[in-house]
Amino acid sequence: MVTGSEPIVKSIFLDDEIEVVHPDIPRGHFRHVLFDFDGTLSLIREGWQDVMVSMMVEVLQQTGTHETPTELRAHVREFVMRLTGRQTIYQMIQLADEVKTRGGQALDPLEYKHRYHQLLMRRIEGRLQALANGASAPDEWTVPGSRPFLDALHRNGCKLYLASGTDLKYVQHEAELLGLAEYFGDNIYGAIDDYKRYSKGMVMERILAENHLHGPELLGFGDGYVEIAEVKRAGGVAVAVASDETGRLGTDEWKRRRLLEAGADIVIPDYRKGQQLLDYLLVKRP
Ligand SMILES: [Mg+2]
Repeated sequence: MVTGSEPIVKSIFLDDEIEVVHPDIPRGHFRHVLFDFDGTLSLIREGWQDVMVSMMVEVLQQTGTHETPTELRAHVREFVMRLTGRQTIYQMIQLADEVKTRGGQALDPLEYKHRYHQLLMRRIEGRLQALANGASAPDEWTVPGSRPFLDALHRNGCKLYLASGTDLKYVQHEAELLGLAEYFGDNIYGAIDDYKRYSKGMVMERILAENHLHGPELLGFGDGYVEIAEVKRAGGVAVAVASDETGRLGTDEWKRRRLLEAGADIVIPDYRKGQQLLDYLLVKRP
């Protein structure tokens, strides 16, 4: 439930920016680590929230609702964020429901998804091209510190998984452009057309079952409500990456609040203090 009020947390801070919300989490046993992609590692789709919210506000205005654009924006932003981490189609299903609630004629959610994708591509195609032809370096479009952090996890024997709500083909392509695909090997998951057959929860259940793991051996990183809640539901430890995707420095307070509501154990702005975080998670420091 999103209340808008400041969640009551008594956090401790490590090195000024690693916020430990639950210091009693089990540490030291992590061998399998799950990452979300957009906003958690990749910044290629920076600004997707604005693109989606603006499109949805426009669609809802066309129903003739008496709500003001400001009211609609606040409402849309809330449900978009609540559904972030699930496949994009679920945000579009919600949009179709919102249109119907206001007496409008809703399109097929898949059509809304295509429209959104076209709008987003307009915003990011220059970035994709620049990465492909070498005009941009991968680190320009990666959450700061990602690569050294993935390297360090790898060196410590952790197996890495990538699970995104974005369509699988785009996740694979964009992970390759950023030079991050190699860390995950075959363990890259994303949205598929038959959307009921994929969810982050399913990926987690599979990781736990195939490796005979218990929840506390699973570590998850994400900037979306859903993956944080799912990691907690699986009994794992959830690190919220409340990345400021535009400013790229410090924490996005709006994201932080919602990720705390989702049950995050630790909040970080990015991986600049990745080594310190790892030392804490692997109990090389108190
Ligand atoms: Mg994300």
